Amino acid sequence: DATDWGAIARQLAPVEVIDEAVLVKKRSRDFFWYSPILNAQLKRSFGDLVAVPKTREELAHCLAVAHAADIPVVLRGGGTGNYGQAVPLRGGLIVETTGMNRILEIGEGFVRVEAGALMADINRALIAEGWEMAMFPSTQDIATIGGFVAGGSAGIGSLSNGALREPGNLIALKALSVEAEPKEHLFEGEEALQIHHAWGLNGAITEVTLKTVPTRDWIGCMATFDTYRDCYAAGYALASRAGIGCKLVSAVEARIVGYFPRLKDHIRADRHLLVALVPAEGLEAFRGLIAAQGGEIDLAMTDPERVAAGLPHVFEFAYNHTTLQVLKADRSATYQQIGVPDASDAEAVARVEAALGEDVWQHHEFARLDGKVVAFNLPIIWFSTEERLREIDDIYRAHGHSVWDAHTFHVEGGGLKGNYRHLAWKKRMDPKGLLNPGKSRVWEDVRHLDADEIEALDRD
Ligand code: FAD
Repeated sequence: DATDWGAIARQLAPVEVIDEAVLVKKRSRDFFWYSPILNAQLKRSFGDLVAVPKTREELAHCLAVAHAADIPVVLRGGGTGNYGQAVPLRGGLIVETTGMNRILEIGEGFVRVEAGALMADINRALIAEGWEMAMFPSTQDIATIGGFVAGGSAGIGSLSNGALREPGNLIALKALSVEAEPKEHLFEGEEALQIHHAWGLNGAITEVTLKTVPTRDWIGCMATFDTYRDCYAAGYALASRAGIGCKLVSAVEARIVGYFPRLKDHIRADRHLLVALVPAEGLEAFRGLIAAQGGEIDLAMTDPERVAAGLPHVFEFAYNHTTLQVLKADRSATYQQIGVPDASDAEAVARVEAALGEDVWQHHEFARLDGKVVAFNLPIIWFSTEERLREIDDIYRAHGHSVWDAHTFHVEGGGLKGNYRHLAWKKRMDPKGLLNPGKSRVWEDVRHLDADEIEALDRD
């Protein structure tokens, strides 16, 4: 590498830079180590320098310097992504956005924020005004809204409000191009999807406007069951009962729950766990439903009660936090992202479970897509070889399930960016291809075309 990083650091002034090697290395990592495959591929990939802009003008300056020097740029929020989205594959400048964290506007049903704001801070500000985010990931304490929009897909609240990409959730965003003079573009409604989940390839997000919903008194609940089948069926019934209005329903099998030491004195041992966030006014109906489904309610706490009991949020036993709890004890665990073809069919879920074998432990999240209750399977997989992992994928596929691979660092791999249109936007926003290079499998094939030609590929 012939780049004079000292000179780049000086050109970045007055933007704060971090050049201490150990800190740069730390900021070159995310949670890719959930995957042993990604871990082997990415653990030696590091950036060269970190810039920490405080304003969009400072961010624009970072992008202009990178453009002039032809150096790769990787945007970074909290660095909590699971696919190495924020790992620089070809070195270069890491731009950490956490200094751009102002909450700009709270209005009727929306919030407008800078990209580096932490979601827990956004929620805190919203709740004080009677609102909350329509959805947020379980990493809200350390993850930024820009990182969620660029790298995430759904979360707590998606049972009520759908995935982030569904109409109305992501109202608008602004992003800077990487040019000699970076320009800020506004993307509204459907257009914003060209930047959403594009892993920072298609522009540097400066500002996001999101849907908010009236906040409610949420009760963190845990119920336990004798069989996983009953637990799953109760989860589906609860998720579908619109009158109760849960924003989170997760089913976790007993062997995984064995890895949740913090719950030891709070829930019955060796039973399958249903985690739910239930609005206070839905609690009676929740109790009735759980009893009718053969479960026992072990825990039902308001947020102050939870804090007094020294317990984390119930959602820290849901979504990918479930995997994290297991990984804390044993690094040989990993996971996969599976779509269940018919969430209402508990028998079919039991059938695939039986076909999988002892190295796959079950965990399902319920959400709503296009108004319909769906289930995502995020199983714990005890990793042996990549061949076995792919065999597990095939068993799922043979049972009609979809696999959204969690073990690839290509943006096309997870299933959301299979089109060319977003790369047409990349061409417009980042003509030199400096943003997060190496993360698109097909960009190198189309980068010589102009943006309209790339867009036309989708119509062929
Ligand atoms: P980062 O990891 O820093 O970045 C993610 C991607 O966005 C990178 O490609 C980065 O280059 C890009 N990026 C960051 N900021 C910008 C910007 N301003 N402009 C352009 N690109 C940018 N995800 C979910 O969707 N739902 C979940 O429920 C969920 N649960 C999780 C639980 C655990 C325990 C873990 C480890 C991860 C989980 N994730 C989940 C993944 C991740 O935490 C979220 O997607 C999170 O919102 C990412 O935010 P971040 O600030 O950490 O982003």
